[in-house]
Amino acid sequence: MRYDIAIIGTGPAGISAAINTKLRNKNIIVFGSQKVSTKVSKAPKVNDYLGLPGLDGISLKNQFIEHIKTLNIEVTEEKVSNVYAMGDYFALIADNKPYEATTVILATGVEFTNPLKGEKEFYGKGVGYCIACDAPLFEELNVAVIGHNKKAEHEIKFISDLAQNLYYIPMYDEEVNLDKKIQIIKDKPIEIQGDGLVNKLILKNTELEVDGVFIVKDSVSPERLVPGIEIKDGHIKVDQNMSTSIEGCFAAGDIVGKPYQYIKGAGEGAIAAYSVIEFLNK
Ligand code: FAD
Repeated sequence: MRYDIAIIGTGPAGISAAINTKLRNKNIIVFGSQKVSTKVSKAPKVNDYLGLPGLDGISLKNQFIEHIKTLNIEVTEEKVSNVYAMGDYFALIADNKPYEATTVILATGVEFTNPLKGEKEFYGKGVGYCIACDAPLFEELNVAVIGHNKKAEHEIKFISDLAQNLYYIPMYDEEVNLDKKIQIIKDKPIEIQGDGLVNKLILKNTELEVDGVFIVKDSVSPERLVPGIEIKDGHIKVDQNMSTSIEGCFAAGDIVGKPYQYIKGAGEGAIAAYSVIEFLNK
C-alpha cells in the first residue's frame, strides 16, 4: 500500500501536519509515539502556547492526543531508520519493515546529546544504530549496546543469541529487564576507539574490548535518516513552504531550526501540510 503522506514525528510539528492533512482527507501514516513527545510531556509549565496559558506539559500532551483521536488519526509506534527518495515516491524503513509514501513530512525534532568521541568516525566500521539490521555482522563477536530508552531493551534481543559477549549500558534511570547473559554496565560512555574498525569502548570507570557498539536513541540524525538531504547549520534546509532539497519531502519543527518552540512547530507543521497537498494536487 502506498500512502499519500508519511509523517515522521508526533511532536507539535508532526501532530499539526497530521491534523491538517487528515482534515483534507489525505491517506496518511504517522510514525512516532502514542505519548506524543517527551519534549511536550516534560515541560513543567507552558506559558507561550496560544490560547492555553499555564498548562503543564502533560495536559498539553493530553490535549494533542484528544485532538488526533477526534479525527481517528492513528500513530504507528515505530522508529523510522531510513527514508529513500525513489523518484516519484519514498521508500521508508521503520522497525525493519518497509513502507511507501508519495510524499514525506519530517518532524523528528532535534537531539540535544552530542555524539560520543569516535562515534561519527567509526559509523559503519563497528558503530551502528539499527541492531535488527546489522546484528548478523557481529556473530560470535563482542558487542556493547548503549540504550537511551527502554525500547533498546527490546532491540537488543536481535543480537543476544549472536554475540559472544554482550554488554548493555542504560542511559536512563528506569529498571532494566534483560536476560542474565547480557551484562548490564551502569557507567558513562566517553569514547569509541579503534584501529580502522572499533576495538574499544571507553567508559568513565572501565573499558570494554568490543568489536561493535550500537547506539539506540530516540531520534536519527537527519543526514542518516534521509541520505542526500541538504543540511544548513545543523538543521534541514527548507524554503518558506517547508520544502527540503528533495522534491516531495517537506520538514517542520525543531528539525528545521530555531526558535525551538511548540507554536513554531505547530505552525510549520500546518504549512508543510498545505504544501504537501498542493504538491499532491499538481
Ligand atoms: P519534538 O517535540 O521533539 O517531537 C519529535 C517527535 O519525533 C517525537 O514524537 C519523537 O518520538 C519522534 N521521532 C524522532 N525520531 C523519529 C524517528 N526516527 N521515527 C519516528 N519518530 C521519530 N517550547 C515552548 O514553546 N514552550 C515551552 O514552555 C517549552 N518548554 C520546554 C520544556 C522542556 C523540558 C523541553 C525539553 C522543551 C521545551 N520546549 C518548549 C521546546 C519544545 O519542546 C520543542 O520546541 C518542540 O517540542 C518541538 O516540536 P517538534 O514537533 O519539532 O519535535
